[in-house]
Amino acid sequence: MTNIRFLNGLNTIGASIAEFSTSSTRIITDFGMTVNFQIGTAQSLIEKHVLPNFPELFGEERKTNVRYKHEAIFITHLHLDHTAALAYLKSDIPVYLSRSSYKLYCSLVKQGLDLALNVNFQIFDYEVPVNIGDLTVTAYQSDHDVLGVAAFLIEDGKHSFGQSGDVRLNGPHKEDVNKWITIFKKKQLDLLILEATSFSFPEKSGLKENKKINVELKCLRDFEDILNKNNDLIVINPYPRNIERVLELNRLANELNKPIVWEKQYAKVLREFTESDPIFVLDDGNLGLNNTIGLIPVTILTIMNNISHFCLQNSFENLENLSNFYKFIYVHCNGDPIGEYDLHYQRLKSFLRNRNSEFIDIGVSGHATREEICEIAMNVAAKKTVIWHSSKPNEAIKELEGSGLHFLNPIREKKYHFE
Ligand SMILES: [Zn+2]
Repeated sequence: MTNIRFLNGLNTIGASIAEFSTSSTRIITDFGMTVNFQIGTAQSLIEKHVLPNFPELFGEERKTNVRYKHEAIFITHLHLDHTAALAYLKSDIPVYLSRSSYKLYCSLVKQGLDLALNVNFQIFDYEVPVNIGDLTVTAYQSDHDVLGVAAFLIEDGKHSFGQSGDVRLNGPHKEDVNKWITIFKKKQLDLLILEATSFSFPEKSGLKENKKINVELKCLRDFEDILNKNNDLIVINPYPRNIERVLELNRLANELNKPIVWEKQYAKVLREFTESDPIFVLDDGNLGLNNTIGLIPVTILTIMNNISHFCLQNSFENLENLSNFYKFIYVHCNGDPIGEYDLHYQRLKSFLRNRNSEFIDIGVSGHATREEICEIAMNVAAKKTVIWHSSKPNEAIKELEGSGLHFLNPIREKKYHFE
């Protein structure tokens, strides 16, 4: 028998944590929070539902005597809403990441772009089952806007459960998503746990006609257009964890002879993910000889004297670097700050207004559209479906009315038994 509990993230985008347990074993999928960091004791954060109610994993007293002989945390992908609680972990419980997620994590930490965690990391490979006591977890390559994303199949020998992680069907790895959908369908899942981020927001008009496009390609084509049509300096602020996109942007700009000059940390992360692509790095005078291996240094002065020959990558914390330029085109591409609700976003916009600079957003979502979410749910056709990772999960359920699917509306921390 397997019990499933939902710890957080039933009505929020992110912090979606589930526990699958038998008498001797438990698997926890994802370990995020909806905030990046909050001060407080583990117990106080548990009470506020910031941290999942696993006091035993945070060094607090155990509330129960249950001790699992075998346990592990499996992370679907490296977004803070799926990992932030790892910073509070005080346990040597193994934390499994995909091989490419782990490589990305190490690279980000080395460059100070992510927190170094004191965690017992383990690696899984796609489609190689990992046995943890009574349970087996098989990860499948999925598609989202970060390298290394997985969907999980969790089995106890009698029951099968699917955890979609964050997913989209309009990205470059659509075939991988369709592959796990087919496998999940064949398994006749007892439960599919599916993200429904897009149901949190009003439906965008025009989305239906566009649904067959690959959003990553659209983003690249938009960037290409901007590069071709402008002689002003192009500044770009991409999201560094989407390594595949960042590499494509770099390649495209190189091809068009307007190479992107990357901030040092970004250039070094990129260097680890491509052997052959030329990577230009902003020479701030502190690069040091060892730091330029494999990178092409360009000073800000060179860019100032050749504004139509370069793109400049700029992360928000280095916004002031752009004070060197009067007029430029700022291409936002899912970097920080990500949206209107962020105070930094207003600061960015007024900074650009003061410099007479145009703001163009070419960012695209890593999440399935509403239609795609329904498509996934219907194609997997699990005996029961849980919709989460959304502020309006019921909207998705309403949309799927008449589909023949059955839904479980979980209550936080309640145990659901699969006999
Ligand atoms: Zn998420």
